[in-house]
Parts: sequence; structure tokens; C-alpha cells
Amino acid sequence: MLLNYLYMIDTHCHIYLPQFRQDLAAVLDRAAYEGITDIMMPAIDFGSLEQMAVLAHPNILFHKMAGIHPCDVDGPADGIGLKLLEKGRSKDMVAIGETGLDYYWSKEHISAQQVSLREHCVVAKQLDKPVILHNRDSTEDLLDIIEEQQDGRLRGIWHCFNGTPEQGRRALDLGLYLGIGGVVTFKNAGVDRVVAGMPLDRMVLETDAPYLAPVPKRGKRNEPSFMKYTAQKLSELFDISVEETDRITTENARRLFRLP
Ligand SMILES: [Zn+2]
Repeated sequence: MLLNYLYMIDTHCHIYLPQFRQDLAAVLDRAAYEGITDIMMPAIDFGSLEQMAVLAHPNILFHKMAGIHPCDVDGPADGIGLKLLEKGRSKDMVAIGETGLDYYWSKEHISAQQVSLREHCVVAKQLDKPVILHNRDSTEDLLDIIEEQQDGRLRGIWHCFNGTPEQGRRALDLGLYLGIGGVVTFKNAGVDRVVAGMPLDRMVLETDAPYLAPVPKRGKRNEPSFMKYTAQKLSELFDISVEETDRITTENARRLFRLP
């Protein structure tokens, strides 16, 4: 039932998590109704891949990723590259991730997180797929590692972009796209002002559902249909129509993920 004329890709959505088990069909119907055509699913660990496998909807395409979330790196990460390569190689894997750094939840495994991030970048380059980057209280280290890994072959997304203008520009110079999620609608975050100064042709929309719901759903369980609020906010920041915002960000996602 595609009634809407807007088409959007949710480039970062954990729709396979138990938070959606109760009412998954209704959540997906609402997403399709709001024009979501594709959902990109970043993994949290290798177990995520089995949870992703059961998803289906007549009007939505589901795309998988293989990776280990930095908060799930709780021991030596050496050697995960081999398994990552084996899982990520599959044709139905559109990207490698999510990976990245998170110094907010855990300072204990910082060096293992960095090893893991490097392994993800190496595999992403080897497979010629984008790498999806999580970042919390770790921006400079993240960008340093991306710079070290960037040999012209690395592409990817700084998901849930929350940097300063300088960090944003550095990320763009390193070839990254910026994932714009619900945080851009938060009143006190200041992310909106930074985003307004960045080029729209390097941005993709995302929810990070079930987390980080945009205003006016802030604090609730996030879901793909709420992405329209983020698109609306972005269109206000760039003073263009929502249709144009959706068209440009969808094209960006198609280009980055090399969707047909
Ligand atoms: Zn995520």
C-alpha cells in the first residue's frame, strides 16, 4: 500500500531487534506507507545476521551488513577480520558494520575497539563495500584511524553525525558521507547548525531505530516511518522541499551503496 509520493531509504536501522518483535508487521506497513523503500541493517554482532534473515515485506527491500558494534567488542579483536571477510563477502551484504569507537560506554576496551575498527576498514576495502561508523566521545581517534586507512579505496558513513564543523569537514575530506538521524531535530544538541553548513549531496537519512527517535517522537521507540521528521527538519535547514530533500539523500544512498 504505497500511498505516499515520497521515497526514502533508511540507511541505518536495527529493525531485527527484539524491540520490534511484537508489532513488526505494523511497523513495516507504516514504513512502507511513509515511502520507505529500502532498509539497511547494520549488525551488532554475528548473531544479528540470523535475526536479519527472517525479515520480509512486499514493498520494502532489506539489506544486510556484517560487523561488530564497538560496544560489543569486549575482548581481543585480532583475527575477527577473517570471519568478517567470510560473512561480508556474501552478495546480499551491502556494507561492513557497524563498527567504530565508543568511549562513552566503555573505556576498558579502547585498544580492542581500535583493532576491530581497523579490521573492518581493511575488509571493507577488500570487498569494495562501504564501512558504517559509530562514534561516541571518540571523534578524533575515529578520524585519525580513517585517515590512516584511507588509501583511496575506503568509503563509508559517519552514522548519527554529531561532530563540530571542523570534524565534519575533515570527515568529508576523508571521503565519508554523513548519516543524519533524529539528533538533528533535538533542540539543544546544536547538530542542526553544524549540518546546515555541510553539503547536502554528502548526506544520507537514517533512523538508528529503535534508538534516537526524532522530535516529536523523542524518547519513544524509534521506527523507520519516523524518518519523515528528520527529512522535514533537513528540508527546513536547507530551505528546500521535503520532496527535494528525499530525492537528493536517496540518490546519495543509492550511489554510496551502489544500489541498482
Ligand atoms: Zn546502530
